[in-house]
Amino acid sequence: EREFITKIGPVQYEIAPGFVPNMRVPATFYVNSQLDHLIFEELEHFTRSGGFGFLPAVKQMANVASLPGIVKRSIGLPDCHAGYGFSIGNVAAFDMDDPEAIVSPGDINCGVRVIRTNLSEQDVAPHKEELAQALFDHIPVGVGSQGIIPTSMDELDAALELGMDWSLREGYAWPEDKEHCEEYGRMLQADPRAVSSRAKKRGRTQMGTLGAGNHYAECVVCVRRRRDGALEVDNRLQMSVFACRVTAITGFSLFPHPTSRSWGGGVSSPQIQVVDEICNPAAASHMGIEFTGQPTMGGERLHIPSAACRGYVIIPQRDCLCMNSLRNSNFLDPLGVVMLHKRDLGSRGFGHQVATDALIEMEKAVSEEKTVLNDKQLACAKIGSPIGQAYLKGMSCAANYAWVNRSTMTFLTRQAFAKVFTCAPDDLDMQMIYDTSHNIAKVEEHMVDGRPHRLLVHRKGATRAFPPHHPLIPVEYQCTGQPVLIGGTMGTNSWILTGTEQGFDTTFGSTCHGAGRARSRNNSRRNLDHRDILEALARQNISIRVASPKLVMEEAPDSYKDVNAVVETCHQAGISRKCVKLRPIAVIKG
Ligand code: 5GP
Ligand code: MN
Ligand code: MN
Repeated sequence: EREFITKIGPVQYEIAPGFVPNMRVPATFYVNSQLDHLIFEELEHFTRSGGFGFLPAVKQMANVASLPGIVKRSIGLPDCHAGYGFSIGNVAAFDMDDPEAIVSPGDINCGVRVIRTNLSEQDVAPHKEELAQALFDHIPVGVGSQGIIPTSMDELDAALELGMDWSLREGYAWPEDKEHCEEYGRMLQADPRAVSSRAKKRGRTQMGTLGAGNHYAECVVCVRRRRDGALEVDNRLQMSVFACRVTAITGFSLFPHPTSRSWGGGVSSPQIQVVDEICNPAAASHMGIEFTGQPTMGGERLHIPSAACRGYVIIPQRDCLCMNSLRNSNFLDPLGVVMLHKRDLGSRGFGHQVATDALIEMEKAVSEEKTVLNDKQLACAKIGSPIGQAYLKGMSCAANYAWVNRSTMTFLTRQAFAKVFTCAPDDLDMQMIYDTSHNIAKVEEHMVDGRPHRLLVHRKGATRAFPPHHPLIPVEYQCTGQPVLIGGTMGTNSWILTGTEQGFDTTFGSTCHGAGRARSRNNSRRNLDHRDILEALARQNISIRVASPKLVMEEAPDSYKDVNAVVETCHQAGISRKCVKLRPIAVIKG
């Protein structure tokens, strides 16, 4: 079997047709010498066991290469591991003009967003526990329970249709948040009528939004920024359509009775991180992450760009400006950021239900039409078929739902910071750097055989990474490329990368989405001890609030691949570029 797999570059392998039946295009995967054994051991284990058990990632990405309408290649990213049908860390694009081309359902719009602050690690240090507790109290975490305030079916429909426009209308988002979100936080194809009532029933109780209006109005002081820049207190109960800035500066808890701990029935893991290393100062400064003053390194004076002269920095000899060597500098001011990761996983999640509903219908259609599939898990439908169209409408609703959820989490995060620092989120500069989706299918234009084609790009556990000057990325990032947000684990680095031209040409503008699991949840539970893990985190001075010991084991850093090796592989392959390395100081896991 291994003869079908060829190393075609320093960090790239190709899987030739024949590796599995019916491959229409080759598959390719990116992995460096530190990570490749994980891929090959998984394959060997499968072969030795006579093809028993779950399919290894390489088989899955090759099976994807057999799907009708696929163009160019099926792509595996360095964080790839076995998933359902597709591997996680798998990208494939299907030609919208090919009547046979398919859409395949998956968990929808799980994603990451990063909010910056102007607080340094020293600012946060004395308040770290308080802040972690405030986030834990404010952001409902844990699987299975219900949202904070039930929403009416009509409101749910509105949220599904409007996405972040709903959050904006209800006062939970800042207008500029939208600019920094893929699709401006709203898929226009969304049609709530395409969503089953079963899914909606789950979505309604789990939306976990605060509910519009006056429930907590007496605890909240609304602060509105006037056009002249001055702040104005607004005591009206109803938050305005134009999203006044809201902040709990009264010091009351926003939720006097935080009895429920769930967010959309999914898993959320806010993390407070500090900047550990800046690899691309010019790009970082566009994200509002920059050093102040002029730090020195090894006696050499480094010129750090100020707002006035962005883009001209030259770092002698090295790509990375290492914070460790700068740590003693007086000028050092590592900025804190908050990373939110929200997934709608599990049998109770809304996005999961939408995908499951579609899968059941597609499986039925596949067997009726006697379609040959390499793997039953790859059930799919022609894009143009009624089932395919209905799925895309429902998927868009689920995507909008996820953005609404991340926006509400952002709102709560801003509230928690405001409360702890008795300062408006605005004055803490709590802008959203970006929000990336890493589980979604989207219509995009890409070059195929030298001509532009409309493709339905599936990214399953992969992040869009559009290059500089792409029309779909915000104006602030036109010169740098799209920010790409990569979670590591609760005890290791996370990253902000940027998109590249090369990635746009070779991976449909996609890169990794995280570290990727190195062992299954079962394996972690059997082999790891939660006390060891908590001790290790304590030694690293990382505050943690976690819903259960089981989760500590499943989510232990050792359960994942080395995120730095994953990011290094993407950087070396040129499909994205390192920008900012982050280090966690507090983690809230649900
Ligand atoms: P997924 O959406 O595939 O479940 O997770 C995406 C990635 O998030 C994982 O591959 C992992 O690297 C990362 N991740 C998991 N837990 C945490 C966490 O607590 N903090 C951060 N920053 N990243 C995490
Ligand atoms: Mn995810
Ligand atoms: Mn075409």
